[in-house]
Amino acid sequence: MKNKIKIPFNKPFIAGKELFYIAQAVIENHHTAGDGPFTKKCQAWLEEHLGCRKVLLTHSCTAALEMAAILANIQPGDEIIMPSYTFVSTANAFALRGGVPVFIDIRPDTLNINENLIEKAITPHTKAILPVHYAGVSCEMDAIMDIAMRHNLFVIEDAAQGIMSTYKGNQLGTIGHFGACSFHETKNIISGEGGALLINDDKFIERAEIIREKGTNRSQFFRGQVDKYTWVDIGSSYLPSDIIAAFLYAQMENADQIIAKRNSIYDLYMKGLQPLADKGCLQLPFILDDCCSNGHMFYIITRSLEERTKLTEFLKERGIMAVFHYVPLHSSPAGKLHGRAYRTLDVTKKVSDCLLRLPLYYEMTNNDVHSVTKSIRDFYKNY
Ligand SMILES: *Cc1c(COP(=O)(O)O)cnc(C)c1O
Repeated sequence: MKNKIKIPFNKPFIAGKELFYIAQAVIENHHTAGDGPFTKKCQAWLEEHLGCRKVLLTHSCTAALEMAAILANIQPGDEIIMPSYTFVSTANAFALRGGVPVFIDIRPDTLNINENLIEKAITPHTKAILPVHYAGVSCEMDAIMDIAMRHNLFVIEDAAQGIMSTYKGNQLGTIGHFGACSFHETKNIISGEGGALLINDDKFIERAEIIREKGTNRSQFFRGQVDKYTWVDIGSSYLPSDIIAAFLYAQMENADQIIAKRNSIYDLYMKGLQPLADKGCLQLPFILDDCCSNGHMFYIITRSLEERTKLTEFLKERGIMAVFHYVPLHSSPAGKLHGRAYRTLDVTKKVSDCLLRLPLYYEMTNNDVHSVTKSIRDFYKNY
Protein backbone atom coordinates (compact mmCIF):
# COMPACT_ATOMS: atom_id res chain seq x y z
CA MET A 1 0.00 0.00 0.00
CA LYS A 2 1.18 3.51 -0.80
CA ASN A 3 2.08 5.72 2.12
CA LYS A 4 0.10 8.91 2.62
CA ILE A 5 1.99 12.12 1.87
CA LYS A 6 2.55 13.92 5.17
CA ILE A 7 5.00 16.53 3.99
CA PRO A 8 4.56 17.53 0.33
CA PHE A 9 7.39 19.07 -1.65
CA ASN A 10 5.59 22.39 -2.18
CA LYS A 11 2.36 24.02 -1.08
CA PRO A 12 1.50 27.32 -2.79
CA PHE A 13 0.96 29.99 -0.12
CA ILE A 14 -2.10 32.23 -0.19
CA ALA A 15 -1.41 35.46 1.69
CA GLY A 16 -5.11 36.35 2.23
CA LYS A 17 -6.23 39.29 0.12
CA GLU A 18 -5.82 37.71 -3.32
CA LEU A 19 -9.53 37.15 -4.02
CA PHE A 20 -10.48 40.50 -2.49
CA TYR A 21 -8.14 42.33 -4.88
CA ILE A 22 -9.38 40.27 -7.82
CA ALA A 23 -12.95 41.31 -6.93
CA GLN A 24 -11.75 44.91 -6.79
CA ALA A 25 -10.17 44.61 -10.25
CA VAL A 26 -13.40 43.21 -11.69
CA ILE A 27 -16.12 45.09 -9.79
CA GLU A 28 -14.54 48.44 -8.88
CA ASN A 29 -11.86 49.01 -11.48
CA HIS A 30 -13.73 47.35 -14.36
CA HIS A 31 -10.31 46.54 -15.73
CA THR A 32 -9.43 42.90 -16.43
CA ALA A 33 -7.21 43.37 -19.49
CA GLY A 34 -3.53 44.17 -19.11
CA ASP A 35 -1.88 47.32 -17.75
CA GLY A 36 -4.66 48.20 -15.31
CA PRO A 37 -4.31 49.70 -11.81
CA PHE A 38 -2.96 46.49 -10.23
CA THR A 39 -0.32 46.02 -12.91
CA LYS A 40 0.87 49.56 -12.22
CA LYS A 41 0.92 48.88 -8.45
CA CYS A 42 2.96 45.70 -8.90
CA GLN A 43 5.43 47.40 -11.24
CA ALA A 44 5.85 50.33 -8.85
CA TRP A 45 6.33 47.92 -5.93
CA LEU A 46 9.06 46.04 -7.79
CA GLU A 47 10.79 49.23 -8.95
CA GLU A 48 10.86 50.51 -5.38
CA HIS A 49 11.77 47.29 -3.54
CA LEU A 50 14.32 46.06 -6.06
CA GLY A 51 15.72 49.48 -6.89
CA CYS A 52 15.12 48.96 -10.59
CA ARG A 53 14.95 51.59 -13.37
CA LYS A 54 11.91 50.04 -15.04
CA VAL A 55 9.83 46.94 -14.47
CA LEU A 56 7.31 45.51 -16.93
CA LEU A 57 4.99 42.78 -15.70
CA THR A 58 4.75 39.79 -18.05
CA HIS A 59 2.67 36.63 -18.07
CA SER A 60 5.74 34.51 -17.23
CA CYS A 61 9.47 34.60 -16.74
CA THR A 62 9.65 32.76 -20.05
CA ALA A 63 7.99 35.79 -21.70
CA ALA A 64 10.44 38.15 -19.99
CA LEU A 65 13.37 36.10 -21.31
CA GLU A 66 11.89 36.14 -24.82
CA MET A 67 11.58 39.92 -24.60
CA ALA A 68 15.20 40.18 -23.45
CA ALA A 69 16.30 38.08 -26.44
CA ILE A 70 14.52 40.49 -28.80
CA LEU A 71 15.88 43.56 -26.99
CA ALA A 72 19.42 42.16 -27.19
CA ASN A 73 18.81 41.84 -30.91
CA ILE A 74 19.74 38.14 -31.03
CA GLN A 75 20.14 37.04 -34.66
CA PRO A 76 20.50 33.54 -36.16
CA GLY A 77 23.92 32.15 -35.25
CA ASP A 78 24.50 34.47 -32.30
CA GLU A 79 25.85 32.61 -29.27
CA ILE A 80 24.62 32.96 -25.69
CA ILE A 81 26.76 31.52 -22.91
CA MET A 82 24.68 29.88 -20.19
CA PRO A 83 24.69 26.98 -17.75
CA SER A 84 23.30 23.63 -18.85
CA TYR A 85 21.88 23.05 -15.39
CA THR A 86 18.81 25.27 -15.78
CA PHE A 87 15.18 25.35 -16.83
CA VAL A 88 14.39 25.03 -20.56
CA SER A 89 13.13 28.62 -20.91
CA THR A 90 16.61 30.01 -20.30
CA ALA A 91 17.74 28.47 -23.61
CA ASN A 92 14.44 28.31 -25.48
CA ALA A 93 13.91 32.09 -25.45
CA PHE A 94 17.13 32.48 -27.47
CA ALA A 95 16.70 29.42 -29.70
CA LEU A 96 13.40 30.98 -30.81
CA ARG A 97 15.44 33.81 -32.37
CA GLY A 98 17.91 31.42 -34.00
CA GLY A 99 20.43 31.97 -31.24
CA VAL A 100 22.78 29.18 -30.21
CA PRO A 101 22.95 28.39 -26.49
CA VAL A 102 26.54 27.54 -25.52
CA PHE A 103 26.32 25.41 -22.40
CA ILE A 104 29.13 25.63 -19.88
CA ASP A 105 29.68 23.89 -16.56
CA ILE A 106 28.64 25.16 -13.13
CA ARG A 107 30.60 25.82 -9.94
CA PRO A 108 30.59 22.84 -7.57
CA ASP A 109 29.69 25.06 -4.58
CA THR A 110 26.86 27.44 -5.64
CA LEU A 111 25.84 25.33 -8.67
CA ASN A 112 25.80 28.57 -10.68
CA ILE A 113 27.54 29.26 -14.00
CA ASN A 114 31.31 28.88 -13.53
CA GLU A 115 32.56 32.41 -14.22
CA ASN A 116 36.09 31.09 -14.79
CA LEU A 117 34.94 29.23 -17.92
CA ILE A 118 32.98 32.07 -19.52
CA GLU A 119 35.85 33.92 -21.16
CA LYS A 120 37.25 30.72 -22.68
CA ALA A 121 33.87 29.98 -24.28
CA ILE A 122 33.63 33.38 -26.01
CA THR A 123 33.86 33.35 -29.82
CA PRO A 124 33.35 36.13 -32.43
CA HIS A 125 29.66 35.09 -32.44
CA THR A 126 29.07 35.54 -28.71
CA LYS A 127 26.36 38.13 -27.95
CA ALA A 128 25.31 37.57 -24.35
CA ILE A 129 26.04 35.90 -21.03
CA LEU A 130 23.13 34.40 -19.18
CA PRO A 131 23.72 33.90 -15.47
CA VAL A 132 20.99 31.86 -13.75
CA HIS A 133 20.72 32.46 -10.01
CA TYR A 134 20.01 28.87 -9.03
CA ALA A 135 18.00 28.36 -5.84
CA GLY A 136 17.85 32.14 -5.44
CA VAL A 137 21.60 32.19 -4.76
CA SER A 138 23.61 34.81 -6.61
CA CYS A 139 26.16 34.14 -9.33
CA GLU A 140 29.56 35.87 -9.07
CA MET A 141 28.24 39.02 -10.76
CA ASP A 142 31.33 41.27 -10.49
CA ALA A 143 33.41 38.82 -12.51
CA ILE A 144 30.58 38.29 -15.02
CA MET A 145 29.96 42.03 -15.53
CA ASP A 146 33.68 42.61 -15.96
CA ILE A 147 33.93 39.98 -18.72
CA ALA A 148 30.81 41.36 -20.42
CA MET A 149 32.16 44.90 -20.35
CA ARG A 150 35.51 43.91 -21.84
CA HIS A 151 33.89 41.88 -24.64
CA ASN A 152 30.91 44.16 -25.20
CA LEU A 153 28.32 41.50 -24.36
CA PHE A 154 24.82 41.68 -22.94
CA VAL A 155 24.18 40.24 -19.50
CA ILE A 156 20.69 38.86 -19.03
CA GLU A 157 20.01 37.56 -15.53
CA ASP A 158 17.63 34.65 -15.14
CA ALA A 159 16.39 35.66 -11.71
CA ALA A 160 13.30 33.42 -11.93
CA GLN A 161 14.13 32.00 -8.48
CA GLY A 162 15.97 35.06 -7.22
CA ILE A 163 13.39 37.63 -6.23
CA MET A 164 14.63 39.71 -3.28
CA SER A 165 17.99 37.96 -3.05
CA THR A 166 21.02 40.23 -3.18
CA TYR A 167 24.60 40.35 -4.44
CA LYS A 168 26.75 42.86 -2.54
CA GLY A 169 23.65 44.85 -1.66
CA ASN A 170 22.15 44.81 -5.16
CA GLN A 171 18.95 42.94 -5.92
CA LEU A 172 19.28 40.03 -8.35
CA GLY A 173 17.94 40.95 -11.77
CA THR A 174 19.06 44.60 -11.44
CA ILE A 175 22.77 44.07 -12.13
CA GLY A 176 22.89 43.01 -15.80
CA HIS A 177 21.24 44.80 -18.74
CA PHE A 178 18.05 42.84 -18.15
CA GLY A 179 16.64 40.59 -15.45
CA ALA A 180 13.77 38.11 -15.65
CA CYS A 181 11.68 37.12 -12.59
CA SER A 182 9.03 34.45 -12.19
CA PHE A 183 5.84 34.41 -10.15
CA HIS A 184 4.98 30.84 -11.10
CA GLU A 185 3.19 28.86 -8.39
CA THR A 186 6.45 27.06 -7.52
CA LYS A 187 8.36 30.26 -6.74
CA ASN A 188 8.49 32.42 -3.58
CA ILE A 189 5.95 35.08 -4.57
CA ILE A 190 3.25 33.78 -6.84
CA SER A 191 0.35 34.54 -9.15
CA GLY A 192 -0.15 31.06 -10.63
CA GLU A 193 1.67 32.04 -13.78
CA GLY A 194 3.48 35.38 -13.92
CA GLY A 195 6.75 37.18 -14.40
CA ALA A 196 8.51 40.47 -14.85
CA LEU A 197 11.19 41.98 -17.05
CA LEU A 198 13.65 44.23 -15.22
CA ILE A 199 15.21 46.85 -17.48
CA ASN A 200 18.36 48.41 -16.08
CA ASP A 201 19.27 50.75 -18.91
CA ASP A 202 16.85 53.52 -19.91
CA LYS A 203 17.62 53.23 -23.59
CA PHE A 204 15.74 49.90 -23.82
CA ILE A 205 12.52 50.99 -22.08
CA GLU A 206 10.63 52.35 -25.08
CA ARG A 207 11.33 49.34 -27.29
CA ALA A 208 10.48 46.96 -24.42
CA GLU A 209 7.03 48.55 -24.08
CA ILE A 210 6.45 48.11 -27.81
CA ILE A 211 7.60 44.46 -27.91
CA ARG A 212 5.32 43.63 -24.97
CA GLU A 213 2.28 45.19 -26.69
CA LYS A 214 2.33 43.11 -29.91
CA GLY A 215 4.87 45.40 -31.56
CA THR A 216 2.60 48.44 -31.33
CA ASN A 217 3.21 51.89 -29.84
CA ARG A 218 0.05 51.54 -27.74
CA SER A 219 1.75 52.60 -24.48
CA GLN A 220 2.91 55.86 -26.07
CA PHE A 221 -0.59 56.37 -27.49
CA PHE A 222 -2.16 56.05 -24.01
CA ARG A 223 0.35 58.54 -22.64
CA GLY A 224 -0.64 60.96 -25.42
CA GLN A 225 2.86 60.89 -26.94
CA VAL A 226 1.59 59.81 -30.38
CA ASP A 227 -1.82 60.51 -31.93
CA LYS A 228 -2.51 57.05 -33.34
CA TYR A 229 -1.33 53.60 -32.46
CA THR A 230 0.05 51.23 -35.03
CA TRP A 231 2.42 48.34 -35.76
CA VAL A 232 5.99 49.62 -35.40
CA ASP A 233 8.22 46.61 -34.49
CA ILE A 234 8.17 42.86 -33.92
CA GLY A 235 6.60 41.75 -30.66
CA SER A 236 3.99 39.57 -29.06
CA SER A 237 1.41 39.66 -26.28
CA TYR A 238 3.57 39.44 -23.19
CA LEU A 239 1.41 41.29 -20.66
CA PRO A 240 -0.70 39.62 -17.96
CA SER A 241 -4.35 40.32 -17.20
CA ASP A 242 -4.92 42.77 -14.34
CA ILE A 243 -6.68 39.87 -12.56
CA ILE A 244 -3.30 38.15 -12.29
CA ALA A 245 -1.69 41.39 -11.12
CA ALA A 246 -4.39 41.77 -8.43
CA PHE A 247 -3.50 38.32 -7.08
CA LEU A 248 0.19 39.15 -7.24
CA TYR A 249 -0.18 42.44 -5.37
CA ALA A 250 -1.62 40.61 -2.35
CA GLN A 251 1.52 38.47 -2.34
CA MET A 252 3.83 41.46 -2.65
CA GLU A 253 2.31 43.04 0.43
CA ASN A 254 3.46 39.94 2.31
CA ALA A 255 6.78 39.41 0.55
CA ASP A 256 9.04 40.20 3.52
CA GLN A 257 7.15 37.82 5.77
CA ILE A 258 7.17 35.05 3.12
CA ILE A 259 10.91 35.34 2.60
CA ALA A 260 11.70 35.53 6.33
CA LYS A 261 9.73 32.35 6.92
CA ARG A 262 11.43 30.51 4.05
CA ASN A 263 14.83 31.58 5.34
CA SER A 264 14.02 30.31 8.82
CA ILE A 265 13.18 26.90 7.34
CA TYR A 266 16.42 27.02 5.33
CA ASP A 267 18.39 27.76 8.53
CA LEU A 268 16.73 24.88 10.39
CA TYR A 269 17.65 22.49 7.58
CA MET A 270 21.23 23.74 7.65
CA LYS A 271 21.50 23.18 11.38
CA GLY A 272 19.83 19.76 11.27
CA LEU A 273 21.96 18.43 8.42
CA GLN A 274 25.35 19.99 9.21
CA PRO A 275 26.51 16.91 11.20
CA LEU A 276 25.95 14.71 8.12
CA ALA A 277 27.84 17.18 5.94
CA ASP A 278 30.70 17.20 8.47
CA LYS A 279 30.87 13.40 8.20
CA GLY A 280 31.08 13.67 4.41
CA CYS A 281 27.72 11.94 3.77
CA LEU A 282 26.27 14.83 1.80
CA GLN A 283 26.91 18.36 0.49
CA LEU A 284 24.86 21.36 1.64
CA PRO A 285 24.02 24.62 -0.21
CA PHE A 286 26.61 27.40 -0.30
CA ILE A 287 26.13 31.17 -0.60
CA LEU A 288 28.90 33.59 -1.64
CA ASP A 289 30.18 36.21 0.84
CA ASP A 290 28.20 39.49 0.86
CA CYS A 291 25.17 37.78 -0.66
CA CYS A 292 21.72 37.25 0.85
CA SER A 293 19.39 34.54 -0.36
CA ASN A 294 15.60 34.41 -0.38
CA GLY A 295 15.22 30.86 0.93
CA HIS A 296 13.80 29.73 -2.38
CA MET A 297 15.11 26.19 -2.18
CA PHE A 298 16.89 23.75 0.07
CA TYR A 299 18.77 20.88 -1.52
CA ILE A 300 21.31 18.26 -0.58
CA ILE A 301 23.80 16.54 -2.86
CA THR A 302 24.30 12.83 -2.22
CA ARG A 303 27.42 10.83 -3.07
CA SER A 304 25.84 8.82 -5.89
CA LEU A 305 22.72 8.43 -8.00
CA GLU A 306 22.03 5.12 -6.28
CA GLU A 307 22.20 6.76 -2.87
CA ARG A 308 19.82 9.52 -3.99
CA THR A 309 17.32 6.99 -5.37
CA LYS A 310 17.36 5.01 -2.10
CA LEU A 311 17.05 8.15 0.04
CA THR A 312 14.13 9.42 -2.07
CA GLU A 313 12.36 6.08 -1.57
CA PHE A 314 13.16 6.04 2.16
CA LEU A 315 11.66 9.52 2.60
CA LYS A 316 8.62 8.63 0.52
CA GLU A 317 7.91 5.67 2.78
CA ARG A 318 7.75 8.16 5.63
CA GLY A 319 5.36 10.40 3.67
CA ILE A 320 8.04 12.99 2.77
CA MET A 321 8.27 14.17 -0.83
CA ALA A 322 11.75 15.13 -2.01
CA VAL A 323 12.46 15.66 -5.71
CA PHE A 324 15.43 15.88 -8.05
CA HIS A 325 15.80 18.74 -10.53
CA TYR A 326 16.99 19.48 -14.08
CA VAL A 327 17.97 17.11 -16.85
CA PRO A 328 21.01 19.01 -18.22
CA LEU A 329 20.03 20.95 -21.34
CA HIS A 330 23.20 19.99 -23.25
CA SER A 331 22.13 16.35 -23.11
CA SER A 332 18.46 17.01 -23.97
CA PRO A 333 17.18 16.39 -27.54
CA ALA A 334 16.44 20.09 -28.24
CA GLY A 335 19.60 21.22 -26.47
CA LYS A 336 21.70 19.05 -28.79
CA LEU A 337 19.83 20.32 -31.83
CA HIS A 338 19.88 24.06 -31.05
CA GLY A 339 22.88 24.47 -28.77
CA ARG A 340 26.31 23.08 -28.08
CA ALA A 341 28.32 22.13 -25.03
CA TYR A 342 31.59 23.86 -24.23
CA ARG A 343 33.98 21.12 -22.98
CA THR A 344 32.68 18.34 -20.72
CA LEU A 345 30.21 19.34 -18.06
CA ASP A 346 31.28 17.10 -15.18
CA VAL A 347 29.83 19.11 -12.29
CA THR A 348 26.52 19.46 -14.15
CA LYS A 349 26.34 15.70 -14.64
CA LYS A 350 27.15 14.97 -10.98
CA VAL A 351 24.61 17.49 -9.67
CA SER A 352 21.93 16.26 -12.04
CA ASP A 353 22.44 12.72 -10.70
CA CYS A 354 22.82 13.55 -7.03
CA LEU A 355 20.87 16.71 -6.13
CA LEU A 356 17.71 16.24 -4.08
CA ARG A 357 15.37 19.13 -3.21
CA LEU A 358 13.72 18.94 0.21
CA PRO A 359 10.21 20.20 1.07
CA LEU A 360 10.11 23.96 1.63
CA TYR A 361 6.91 26.00 1.82
CA TYR A 362 5.49 28.78 3.96
CA GLU A 363 3.16 26.61 6.01
CA MET A 364 5.84 24.10 6.90
CA THR A 365 6.22 23.86 10.70
CA ASN A 366 9.47 23.48 12.62
CA ASN A 367 8.30 19.96 13.49
CA ASP A 368 7.92 19.18 9.80
CA VAL A 369 11.50 20.30 9.18
CA HIS A 370 12.74 18.25 12.15
CA SER A 371 11.00 15.15 10.87
CA VAL A 372 12.66 15.58 7.46
CA THR A 373 16.14 16.09 8.93
CA LYS A 374 15.64 13.22 11.40
CA SER A 375 14.55 10.91 8.59
CA ILE A 376 17.65 11.80 6.59
CA ARG A 377 19.85 11.14 9.62
CA ASP A 378 18.07 7.80 10.14
CA PHE A 379 18.73 6.90 6.52
CA TYR A 380 22.46 7.53 6.84
CA LYS A 381 22.68 5.48 10.08
CA ASN A 382 22.20 2.35 8.02
CA TYR A 383 23.69 3.42 4.71
C1 LIG B 1 10.73 28.88 -13.14
C2 LIG B 1 11.90 29.21 -13.98
C3 LIG B 1 11.76 29.77 -15.27
C4 LIG B 1 10.42 29.95 -15.93
O1 LIG B 1 9.52 30.70 -15.24
P1 LIG B 1 8.00 30.82 -15.80
O2 LIG B 1 7.47 32.00 -15.04
O3 LIG B 1 7.33 29.55 -15.45
O4 LIG B 1 8.07 31.06 -17.25
C5 LIG B 1 12.89 30.12 -15.95
N1 LIG B 1 14.12 29.94 -15.44
C6 LIG B 1 14.30 29.38 -14.22
C7 LIG B 1 15.69 29.22 -13.69
C8 LIG B 1 13.20 28.98 -13.46
O5 LIG B 1 13.39 28.42 -12.26
